[in-house]
Amino acid sequence: MADTHSDLIPVVDYARASADKAKDEHTVKDQQKANESTAKRLGCRIVARFADNDKSAMKEGVIRDDFEEMLRVLRAGRLKDGTPVMGCIVVADDRLIRKTGDYERFVDALTYEDGRVYADKRGFKDLYAEDVETMGLMGAVISRMEIKKMRRRARQWNRARALEGLPKKGHRPFGWQEDRITLDPVESELLRKAVQRVLAGGSVNSIVRDWQKAGVLTPRGNPWKNQTLRLTLRNARLCGWRTINGELVTDDDGDPIVGTWEPVITPSQWQALQAIFDARKGKQITYNGEAVGPIRTDPREHTYLLTSILRCGRILPDGSMCGGKLRAGFEKDRGRHRYFCHTKGSGGCGGLARRGDLVDEFISEAVLAKLEERVQEARPDIGPWPKEKELSDKIEQLKELKSRFAQRRISNSLFFDEVERLEPEIAKLRADRQRHALKAEARTDVTDIRRRWYSEIDEDRLDISQKRTYIREALHAVIVHPAGQGRGNKFDPNLLEPVWRED
Ligand SMILES: [Zn+2]
Repeated sequence: MADTHSDLIPVVDYARASADKAKDEHTVKDQQKANESTAKRLGCRIVARFADNDKSAMKEGVIRDDFEEMLRVLRAGRLKDGTPVMGCIVVADDRLIRKTGDYERFVDALTYEDGRVYADKRGFKDLYAEDVETMGLMGAVISRMEIKKMRRRARQWNRARALEGLPKKGHRPFGWQEDRITLDPVESELLRKAVQRVLAGGSVNSIVRDWQKAGVLTPRGNPWKNQTLRLTLRNARLCGWRTINGELVTDDDGDPIVGTWEPVITPSQWQALQAIFDARKGKQITYNGEAVGPIRTDPREHTYLLTSILRCGRILPDGSMCGGKLRAGFEKDRGRHRYFCHTKGSGGCGGLARRGDLVDEFISEAVLAKLEERVQEARPDIGPWPKEKELSDKIEQLKELKSRFAQRRISNSLFFDEVERLEPEIAKLRADRQRHALKAEARTDVTDIRRRWYSEIDEDRLDISQKRTYIREALHAVIVHPAGQGRGNKFDPNLLEPVWRED
């Protein structure tokens, strides 16, 4: 039966006369003849021809760029007059290459759509398969060359992006959304809390345990480990600074490059965090970052909850408020502590004192109530996850697919096509569900803080420095107003005036 046009695959061919005359088939005409017979043998029909001539181009100083034109045709899948083009024939791979990058661009254009063919005089080659063996020796050499170059380019590009303060490419960092700029509300909150806990003397290990319990996963979907979290907290990205390979990127003046993404914490918080980590390596770090001998590990830095948070509100004879930071002292005879304004010689007025246990209790309640109020405002009711049905449908589809495959009722290629489509969709939905669950969980977080605030179990209970962190986060100070005449010693909470931090 004679071939009809409709049976044949419409292709273009490409020929290039190499400047190297020693090679066989160095003229365009020779190559086109060879391509003609390849096409015939493989059931193809050449619908257009493209050819470049290196030698003449050099002579004339003009590049007649059929190669570029062919790339446009291949990408479009048709000639200018609308004739479909389904592939390309050359004598050999090396005809496609005049400068680095040509081969990759060719593959890119040809495989722009499915079902295209490529052949040299030895036969068809699958350019959709990415393994170099199918690309022939030349392809292998070229792609190795290209991969090296691409890596170098990627490095330079990363460096350039870093200098512009743009985020690194790659996996989404925990705490940010896919755009790597916008904070993820749930994850960034977890990070912020983790930072506070470490700053308040908490261990990375205890945070990791809590996160594991809560089912928090890394962006790659793995459970957190101490090392992973430590690296995350060590990363200057947290405070908006840019790093490459763990080194801060700085400008000519040595100042850190500030990124375009939203920071989770401030640079000073991040530096304080690093100082803690450094100190835990066994060195003590001074406020300006100097390491000075072994670290002092006295956990009772603050014995009382509100030392130096309370301020004296007594009005002095000149009409101004004292404002002195209240100290705390233990009253042995009464078995409890009290807060008092220091003597005049030490910067106070010496004229105000209050029962410690009652002040602590009242301020604790006020701070917890404030935290609860903020959570209510920030997170209105979160309903059930709305995509439950979608997820279970997709999981069902995948199951069905697998069972059909096991019974050999569908082809390999269809199976893997479908699996490749379904699996990422399912993974995405699962991640979405997890985030939703975390959002709902954030609501219960404050309940947990309240419980741990008053817990009877030592290990569970927040220690003084952790509580102080929450208090300091919620308010600037508490002004303690003096009891008026005739009030006696009766504790009056109205005389305590928290100065809340505005969000
Ligand atoms: Zn005072």
